[in-house]
Amino acid sequence: MSNHIYLDFQSTTPLDEITLKSMIPYFSEKFANASSSHALGIENSLIIEKSRRLIARDIGSNQKEIIFTSGATESNNIAINCITKYHGKGEIITVKTEHKSILDSCKELEDNGFTIKYLNVDKFGLICLSQLKKEITKDTILVSIMYGNNETGVLQPINQISKITKALNIPLHCDATQSIGLLSFNVKELGIDMLTFSSHKFYGPKGVGGLFIDKSLKIAPLIKGLQHEKGMRSGTYNLPGIVGMQVALNISRNKQKDEYMRLIKLRDRFLEKIKSIKYICNTPLKSSLPHCLSLSFPNVNMQKFLSRLNKVILSTGSACNSGNQQESHVLTAMGINKTLVNSTIRLSFGRATSESDVDNAAIEIINAANYSYVV
Ligand code: PMP
Repeated sequence: MSNHIYLDFQSTTPLDEITLKSMIPYFSEKFANASSSHALGIENSLIIEKSRRLIARDIGSNQKEIIFTSGATESNNIAINCITKYHGKGEIITVKTEHKSILDSCKELEDNGFTIKYLNVDKFGLICLSQLKKEITKDTILVSIMYGNNETGVLQPINQISKITKALNIPLHCDATQSIGLLSFNVKELGIDMLTFSSHKFYGPKGVGGLFIDKSLKIAPLIKGLQHEKGMRSGTYNLPGIVGMQVALNISRNKQKDEYMRLIKLRDRFLEKIKSIKYICNTPLKSSLPHCLSLSFPNVNMQKFLSRLNKVILSTGSACNSGNQQESHVLTAMGINKTLVNSTIRLSFGRATSESDVDNAAIEIINAANYSYVV
């Protein structure tokens, strides 16, 4: 990729070559609408169902429990709203550090009479299980808590959370967008009732994702039309996207063990290399995704710092927030002061990152920091 050092794999990943090849026939010669009842349509509907079956197998669910969407934003919106639409009223518990697609969906529900309880996080970004227990009441209809955070990479203790929700029979939705290609997943073992995923985070195509919905959940359909996806999400199938997502997920699963260790080593190597400058690591390294770092640089003027980056491509805060200039709600919820929040970068390593990329990035970041200290 040019002569840049791309360190923003949490924002998006490049499309894997094998995945791309698997998709190409479905753009052109195998273009038929998978919902058509003619022979070509039926052929493609079998491809959709095969992809669904293989994705379901990769996350430990049943084929009938997967719906395809346009990505994690849509999956999160559906997850929150299909439950609330069914119940008509009630309480939702979520976390202050969730992705905006959850928080803004909840905000709208709040305006429409639902009660939303936002759990706090500690300085590591972790929720407190006893607060979760305390907030659940007879009116709670959903708990929605992400797995790996998109700004700091902190991993919430989903299996402990699901013990609480299962014991009280409350559905648990988990936004696993950042973690699904990097960690092994079994929704049934983890006790998750709904799970969001998005293909472009695991080297698949953009604009396609999915939602696992446990078959026992009581939900109402949202996206009306010709009853695709059992009425849950109407719309013509994104056949190349779905095929690509399945192949990409499978490749990620096969690479996962080796890649996990390699990414941890790269991350640790980077921290070792930047030892000479003062930084605060907001990522709790013992309970986080393997590939990312949120680092704050005290007394560094971020504008000056960024102006000195030449090759390194990284993100300030979350790429998902980059369209607006708001301060990171994640770092703020962790109790980090405004000045530090504004001098924070997010780095994430990926399949293409080599040791020499890490070393060169470290040199550039050290130089940029040294140039940007405010005296
Ligand atoms: N949830 C999380 C945790 C994310 O990181 C993102 C993407 N940054 C989304 C949801 C939205 O994903 P998509 O781009 O697939 O809509």
